[in-house]
Order: sequence, then C-alpha cells, then structure tokens
Amino acid sequence: MAGTGAFAEILDGDVYKYYADGEWKKSSSGKAVAITNPTTRTTQYKVQACTQQEVNKVMEIAKIAQKSWAKTPLWKRAELLHKAAGILKEHKIPIAEALVKEIAKPAKDSLTEVVRSGDLVSYCAEEGVRILGEGTFLVSDSFPGNERTKYCLTSKIPLGVVLAIPPFNYPVNLAVSKIAPALIAGNSLVLKPPTQGAVACLHMVHCFHLAGFPKGLISCITGKGSEIGDFLTMHPGVNCISFTGGDTGIAISKKAGMVPLQMELGGKDACIVLEDADLDLVAANIVKGGFSYSGQRCTAVKVVLVMESVADEVVEKVKSRMATLTIGRPEDDCDITPVVSESSANFIEGLVMDAKEKEATFCQEYKREGNLIWPLLLDNVRPDMRIAWEEPFGPVLPVIRIASIEEGIHHCNASNFGLQGCIFTNDINKAMLISDAMETGTVQINSSPARGPDHFPFQGIKDSGIGSQGITNSINMMTKVKSTVINLPSPSYTMG
Ligand code: NAP
Repeated sequence: MAGTGAFAEILDGDVYKYYADGEWKKSSSGKAVAITNPTTRTTQYKVQACTQQEVNKVMEIAKIAQKSWAKTPLWKRAELLHKAAGILKEHKIPIAEALVKEIAKPAKDSLTEVVRSGDLVSYCAEEGVRILGEGTFLVSDSFPGNERTKYCLTSKIPLGVVLAIPPFNYPVNLAVSKIAPALIAGNSLVLKPPTQGAVACLHMVHCFHLAGFPKGLISCITGKGSEIGDFLTMHPGVNCISFTGGDTGIAISKKAGMVPLQMELGGKDACIVLEDADLDLVAANIVKGGFSYSGQRCTAVKVVLVMESVADEVVEKVKSRMATLTIGRPEDDCDITPVVSESSANFIEGLVMDAKEKEATFCQEYKREGNLIWPLLLDNVRPDMRIAWEEPFGPVLPVIRIASIEEGIHHCNASNFGLQGCIFTNDINKAMLISDAMETGTVQINSSPARGPDHFPFQGIKDSGIGSQGITNSINMMTKVKSTVINLPSPSYTMG
C-alpha cells in the first residue's frame, strides 16, 4: 500500500514529505496541497507546499552534489541507475496504486507505466555508458589553409542542475525520462512533480533514495505549479529545463533564462484515412489511439480526417468498437475512467456543447457523471468548430470528412500543434509523400501515434515543443560538448 512498508518514512501523518539533501522533510510553510481523487472527487493525499527558501536550499545543495557526481565514474553512475530501476520495478504495486488514486489511470496501465519506467532507467544507463564513453577526434588539415598541426578532442560534459517538470498523465514515466538521462550524464536533478501524480513521483524518488544515490543529487520539491513554478523555472541555479505539459511550457520558454530547454507540449494528432486503407485496422487504431486512458495522452488521435468515400464505413466500424469500451472506475480497470479534474471535464463539455450548437453529428448521446465522460464520436465536424482545433484531453473524438488528400494535409498543417500524425493506406508511395508534407515531429504509417518505445526520438514542432526526447536525444540534450585542442609545433601526418 502507498505510504507503508518501505515507503513509511516518506509520510508524516497524512501529508507526504518532500525530498532534499538525501532526506524526507516537512516544509517550514506548515501548509499542504490536497490531491483530489478524480473518481471519488474527495481528497486522497496531501503533499508539502514547499517554500522559496526551500527551493533555494535545494538548488544550492544540487550544485555542490553535481560537482562530485560528475567525477563519479560513468560505470558507477550506470550501476546505481540499474539498481534504482530494479527497486522501482520491485515496488510497482504501491506506485501503481497511487497512480490509480491520483490520476484515475486504469489499474493495469498504471502497473505498465511503472515497469516501463524501470526499463527506461536501465536502457538509459546502458545507452549512456555507450554514448558518453566516446568522443570525437578531429584534425585541422581538412579545413582549407591548415596543415595537420592541430588535434581536437571532444567529449560530452554535464550541464549542471537539471530541472524536471512532468505532467499529470504519465507522471512517473515522464519524470524518469528526464531523471535518468540527467543523472547518467553527470548532472544533478531537481524534480517538481505534477500535483496530480505527486505521490506516485515521491514513491518513485524514494526508489532512487533506496538505491543509494549521493545526498542532494536528486531532490523533489512539491507544491502547486501556479505558486512555486515561476520561482523554480527562473531560478539562477537551474542550468537546463526539461518540461512536459501543455501551454504552460510556452510561458516557461518566454521566462526562462539562457538555459537549454526541452519542451514537450500539447498535440492535435491527425489521423488521415485514405480509400485503400484496411478499414478494420483503421477502426481498431482510432479507438485505441483516441480513447486509451480516456484520451488523456499527448499522442492520442485527436482528429480523424477521412476520405468521404469510406467515411460511413469507418464511422460505423469505430462506433461498433466503441460500444465494447468499458466505462467506470480505474480500480476495475475500465477503459474509460474519470478525467483528471472537474475543470478538465468542464473544458471538454464546453467543446462538446460548441459542436452541438454548430450541428456536428453525435454518434452517441453525450453523457457525464462527475468527472466521468462517456466516449463520444462527433461526425461531420467542420473547421468552424472548436473541437476541430483544440485538444480536448478527454474521450471525445471529432471526424472531419475530406474530399482530397490535400484537404487532409491542409487541415493538419493549419494547426498550431505539430506533435505526431498518422496515415492509413496500403500505398507506401502515397504514405511517404503525405508523411513528408505533414508538419509534425513524427508520422506513423498504419498505426496510431505513440510516444514509445522510449528510445525512439520524440519531438514536436510549432507549439508542440522545442528539442527532441527519446533516450539518446535526452542524454545529448543534457550535455554540452567540450573540446581540447592539441597544438603541434610542426605538421604531423599519420604514418608520415
Ligand atoms: P500542465 O498544466 O502544463 O502542467 C504540467 C506541469 O507543469 C505540472 O507539473 C504543473 O504542476 C506544472 N506547472 C504549472 N504551472 C507552472 C508554472 N507556472 N511553472 C512551472 N511549472 C508549472 O499540463 P498537464 O495538464 O499536467 O498535462 C497535459 C498536457 O501535457 C497536454 O497538453 C498534453 O498534450 C501535454 N503532454 C505532452 C506530452 C509530450 O511529450 N509532448 C506528453 C504528455 C502530455 P501542477 O500540477 O502543480 O500545476
């Protein structure tokens, strides 16, 4: 059970502690932030509301800890990460339980998130040993006017203190996807978990504590992003920010100082369906892609752009598959569970009502109880409806019927977002042409969008992000190249 056994020390009464200087602590604020269970809509957990002074202290210690961590041999850093991965997987049950209660993620998916996170940490340790174990060697005589009098050696060095801010929907996975690359590369790490998902993150951090990382190298500051967020992201002690979330990331990018940014933000992933596609495969992927975790995925299918001639058949097939989705509590492992908050549910309802006013075709009746919204397919959506452009982050999926491939590409590219997209066709030549034309970070051919496997590059363009994630890219992003040039008194040629 969360907060018991190996995790008993992270709890003080009914408030979870924050983690700093290798210890679990109570905030001097004396205040707690309540975490509402999206299913029961009552307070499930409480976490410390950390103060600015506590942030200052954490940054100071993180800076000191990083200096000696950077001198820790790479193989030892990897060894500790492997150990943490093992402990994380060993404790998957209480961490998954927190995910079920905090973010209403179905029970099986919650367990999968923790196991996947352990695998990510191990993979990152292995990848880090390989890519950080190598540098480059350049010679000067390739550039016009130079003799071979200079040898340049490059290696990758850490940036310093990395600030990691993940979102609610994959709090553990998206936290470790920042923590592991930061640590293997020799950085220290300050985590600000999402409020919904903070308790799962605190348990995950305790697994790193149990693995025996040096004091102060990892810290976890809790509190509302709206209260402590600006102070963290604008803190002079931060040398890199890795953020995943919504538009908040755009605001952070404007405020952050001259530090490298990794921003993975929202999406409006389009699914383009051509006449020659396997329509059963299309329907299966639309339902899985659009409604897994109730549509609360950055890479959920968020708009279907289907050729008019096959639209009726696609809509019928999607409807019949949607009828098999189970709706209810995450504890019962239902497909559709309550969305994360009442305000999210209200926002989704606003999009649905706008579509209703503008006469979209409702394939099911709109139904909501508390934060639970029944899955809904909206057909005949037009570009003047908000749902055609906005990210509902809920179980509501618009279908736009298109007369040509160009119309589909145009709609996709007119979006502010550019995370992923997908194309269904049996013609690989058409698929490649459309993929090249789509202004998105990734295009999936004959499958719905997805962030994994976690070592694949993952990036958004336009308002969907800055930089690229994926294990290798994250390690590279959290390092800087350092060169040493050996200047020879006379030209020297190999075997010369
Ligand atoms: P969000 O509201 O932007 O919050 C993300 C994180 O930012 C949370 O930890 C939040 O803390 C924190 N935060 C809030 N205000 C802040 C501030 N002023 N300064 C610093 N941090 C602040 O996003 P969300 O609702 O958790 O997640 C949903 C969004 O994430 C969707 O748009 C989705 O598409 C996107 N997402 C993108 C990816 C990707 O890789 N591209 C993956 C998953 C999700 P609090 O919880 O305490 O407010």
